[in-house]
Amino acid sequence: MKLIRRKSGTFTVPGDYLGVIEEFLPGGGTYIDDGIIYSSSTGHLLVDSHNRKISVYQKTNSPLIPKEGSLVLGTIVSIHNKNLNVRIFQIRDKPLFNPFNGIMHITDVRRGYVKTMLDVYQIGDIIRAKVISIKNREFHLSTQENELGVIHSKCSFCGDKLILSQNSLKCPQCNKPKWRKIASGYGKKDFIKLF
Ligand SMILES: [Zn+2]
Repeated sequence: MKLIRRKSGTFTVPGDYLGVIEEFLPGGGTYIDDGIIYSSSTGHLLVDSHNRKISVYQKTNSPLIPKEGSLVLGTIVSIHNKNLNVRIFQIRDKPLFNPFNGIMHITDVRRGYVKTMLDVYQIGDIIRAKVISIKNREFHLSTQENELGVIHSKCSFCGDKLILSQNSLKCPQCNKPKWRKIASGYGKKDFIKLF
């Protein structure tokens, strides 16, 4: 959790810890989660000590930050049985100067049961995902919808780019099918903009 100076004028971004409800009344540009007040906006802090109220005033031309509902692109940087971590490097078609950390739980991979993350994704995969919630500056992602999932992947054995073949991915070298939650348009569109 990032601690910021709770002084009027301090720059904050969504998810910054602002205090607890025992200390402050939450004002505009904030949200409460479990008694803790966080910033929900990019902007500057306004601490009204007289009324014990804390608010965030939005800046115009705010830097690009994923919001709830944003479509993002990211690289999978670590995988565990029940969740994985993503480095978000692009929001829609806009590359980010500083990447954000995304996390995905196994229940948000796709509709239906997934036994382990290792069955559907691998480290290094590039995925298109949707931000479903923001907590503690972590962006919780889902790939349940059709257009979401892996958009680029390499074979873990030979490093060849996996190709789409009858609704699954295949390595042209090893010829083995690879299970993935594949995004519609795998290997196209967003990717061309990037490389
Ligand atoms: Zn291969």
